Amino acid sequence: MKRQERIDALKAAVFEMYPDAKTELEHGNEFQLLIAILMSAQATDKQVNIINRNFFEFFKTPEDGIKLWVEEITEFINSVSFFNNKAKNIYKTCHILVDKHNSLPPKTIAELTALPWVGIKTAKVFLSVTENAPFLWVDTHVHRVLNRIGIVKTKSPLETDKKAEKIFNAEDLAPLHNTLILFGRYHCIARKPKCWNCPLIDACSYKDKVFD
Ligand code: SF4
Repeated sequence: MKRQERIDALKAAVFEMYPDAKTELEHGNEFQLLIAILMSAQATDKQVNIINRNFFEFFKTPEDGIKLWVEEITEFINSVSFFNNKAKNIYKTCHILVDKHNSLPPKTIAELTALPWVGIKTAKVFLSVTENAPFLWVDTHVHRVLNRIGIVKTKSPLETDKKAEKIFNAEDLAPLHNTLILFGRYHCIARKPKCWNCPLIDACSYKDKVFD
C-alpha cells in the first residue's frame, strides 16, 4: 500500500473515532493552558490535572501569579516532576506576561519561545490548541502510531516530527495533533494495541499485531 493510502486510511479512522478530540490538559483559559503545558514536561496529563484542580482555583491569571512567592507556587505543584524549576519559571512567566504582553500569552512562536522554559514543543502545542495553527507535535504516542502503520520509518519522535510536517497537508496538522495522541494513548497502546478492533487493520504494516 502506498504511503498516501495509509495516510488517508489513518485520517478517516481517527477523525471518526475522535471527532471532538481536544487536549486532555484541564484549563479555564489560555493562560492556564500555557501553564499546564509547561507543567506537563516529563509528567502525564493526568498528574498535571490532579495538581491543577486545586492550583488553578487560586491561579487564574498572571496577576494572580505575581502576587505569590515562588515558594508558594512550589508548594502547590510539589508533586510534579522538576517542581522547583517549574515553579521558578511559572513565576517568571507571570511577570513577563504582565510587564510585556498585557497579561495574555503571546501568539507567535518567537514570542512564546522567548518565555522561560517554553521550547518549540510547548509553543507548537499551545498554538495548535488555541489557534488551530498548522502544527502537529509528535510525542511518543504519535511516533509509535505513524511507524507502526508504516507512514514513516523513523528512530525518534524528533525525526518523525520533522517528517510529519512534510507528509501531511497543512490543514490536517492541527486536527491530527489531538486525535493522534488519543489514538496512541487509548487504542494503539504501546504494550497491547487493540488490533482486534482496529479500523486500520488492513492499512497497518505492524508485524506484531495483537488479536486477543
Ligand atoms: S492495527 Fe494495531 S498496530 Fe496497527 S494501528 Fe491498529 S491498533 Fe495500532
